Amino acid sequence: MPEASTAAAHAPVYVVGAGPGGLAVAAALRGRGVPAVVVEKADKVGNSWRGHYDRLHLHTTRRLSSLPGLRMPRRFGRWVRRDDVVAYLEKYAEFHELDVVTGVAVERVEALPEGGGWRLRAGGGRVLEGRAVVVATGFNHTPYVPGWPGLDAYGGEVLHAGAYRAAEPFRGKDVLVVGVGNTGAEIAVDLAEGGAARVRLAVRTPPYILRRSTLGWPAQRTGILIRRLPVRLVDLLADPVCRLSVPDLGDKGLARPSGGLATRARQGAIPVQDVGLVAAVRAGRVEPVAAVEEFADGEVVLADGSRVRPDAVVAATGYRRGLEPLVGHLGVLGPDGRPRVRGARTAKHAPGLYFTGYTNPISGMFRELALDADRIAARIARSR
Ligand SMILES: Cc1cc2nc3c(=O)[nH]c(=O)nc-3n(C[C@H](O)[C@H](O)[C@H](O)COP(=O)(O)OP(=O)(O)OC[C@H]3O[C@@H](n4cnc5c(N)ncnc54)[C@H](O)[C@@H]3O)c2cc1C
Repeated sequence: MPEASTAAAHAPVYVVGAGPGGLAVAAALRGRGVPAVVVEKADKVGNSWRGHYDRLHLHTTRRLSSLPGLRMPRRFGRWVRRDDVVAYLEKYAEFHELDVVTGVAVERVEALPEGGGWRLRAGGGRVLEGRAVVVATGFNHTPYVPGWPGLDAYGGEVLHAGAYRAAEPFRGKDVLVVGVGNTGAEIAVDLAEGGAARVRLAVRTPPYILRRSTLGWPAQRTGILIRRLPVRLVDLLADPVCRLSVPDLGDKGLARPSGGLATRARQGAIPVQDVGLVAAVRAGRVEPVAAVEEFADGEVVLADGSRVRPDAVVAATGYRRGLEPLVGHLGVLGPDGRPRVRGARTAKHAPGLYFTGYTNPISGMFRELALDADRIAARIARSR
């Protein structure tokens, strides 16, 4: 089915969000001669990466994280620094001569009658009409903090990991990091190395921990190889590998994981790539403690009944997609708030409405964004 009536067929494709996902789609469209405009709410491209903590490097390799049509330069090294990711995204938009409109937040996407394309309602009363829309507003859109009982009345400092930049403001302080995904694990290490007096790490479910690379072989490559294998097989294979490569930290309060690496990854808990956590836990510089249950009387109550009184709590408790105001009325979201379709696929009743970047694959998200960009662009180009 064509995506839009002939009048709308000449309208551009709108891409919402100028992160790596949106920029990659725009570049792939341009490469196929399809006019595309990227609409970005911030005043620069790569907004999410500008806000990440100082210490951050890609944990996926430079080679496997390049977007279509422009490689990341060798001088960025194997594990690319945050600032170099930002520089790359700026260069990427410039190199591909992308049409990026900054400072405009898209608030709502509406279908035009009779398959006539899509209307975008944006800040300042702007209305844009396009023949297709690619939504690329990010997996990590809205910081999420669980509704812990007592949190509102708690007087102490609590910040989401998205607001954490560096250890310096926490020098000499007792900090509780909550959540042991890649972000929580790395922030705990950063705090321990950066002079925090004490760092505890609240763990609900012990994570699978992998070495970022072994004898030069990056964990990401294994992630790519095993991605298509049956989940149960990967679970079986992964257990002994994790046991061999990561020492038992049970006596330090971090039990061996269970549930199967691939099974857990499918549920959204991708393995933690070790960038210092194992050593820090072994040395007692990061102390695993039980999960946070509630806040009471100026203290944090943990699942084992113990209480702690940190100077600051860093909630590394993830993000939500935040797509409801934008497209929730279109019947394209699942109960978990994620789009029901991705990549080149569109919902039957919403042809021309694409999504990229709403999965968190074990093979690396930059890589996935690059692959989806080509698929989406090919599909849009075909439907002209
Ligand atoms: C700490 C951290 C480390 C990561 N490390 C890696 C890694 O090593 N390797 C890897 O492959 N992946 C990594 N990822 C995952 C993923 O690759 C990145 O989050 C990546 O930036 C996702 O790109 P994106 O374009 O989908 O979203 P984003 O980069 O979040 O870009 C979305 C853009 O949309 C804009 N936007 C949002 N809403 C609107 C709106 N309504 N209107 C207009 N614009 C809007 C935002 O301002 C933003 O610029 C990491 C993620 C995090 C959080």
